[in-house]
Amino acid sequence: MRAGTRNLLGLPAVAVALLTALLTTAPPAAAGPLIGGHWAKDGLARAQIYFVDHTGANWPVGGTVNEWNKASGVDSYYVTSCPGSWLHCVNVWEWNDSGDNRYGVTFYNIGANGHFTSAEVWLNSGLARNATQTRKTACHEEGHVLGLDHQFTRTSCLMSGDAVANGISVYPSADDLATLKSLYAHGN
Ligand SMILES: [Zn+2]
Ligand SMILES: [Zn+2]
Repeated sequence: MRAGTRNLLGLPAVAVALLTALLTTAPPAAAGPLIGGHWAKDGLARAQIYFVDHTGANWPVGGTVNEWNKASGVDSYYVTSCPGSWLHCVNVWEWNDSGDNRYGVTFYNIGANGHFTSAEVWLNSGLARNATQTRKTACHEEGHVLGLDHQFTRTSCLMSGDAVANGISVYPSADDLATLKSLYAHGN
């Protein structure tokens, strides 16, 4: 597994079929790569995702969630406990293994209508050796949670790899935010 990639093991067969269908039909207008899921709005004007931070002070989960909250059509909240079991709560954990080449992992499942049914994030403290990398990794995994796949431009934290060595942004790109606006511009 290469560093920074999300884990696809949690993806059920139906989700793989949905992803294939998405990739072989019409991509969204903004053309950013997607992982094939998005969060339901549940009758609200915008989908709401609560990132529940269980990490230590080294991980800038609050600051990176605030950056993702700039996207239109989807609200990202930073909390330290889930405000309600009926809400879209995504636990963010850290682990420490310098022998594991993954900076972070996002697990997710996709159910009916392409809606995520669950997601959780793990951030590897054993690899993130500086504040630039922790910020980039948190931004990267949170972007997967919202539905974005990898980008191949340094202006997006969704590019994989070492942030310092490769000069990768620690922020979502304008294209990432436009892709989310397109992904969440639908009825439910
Ligand atoms: Zn990734
Ligand atoms: Zn939907």
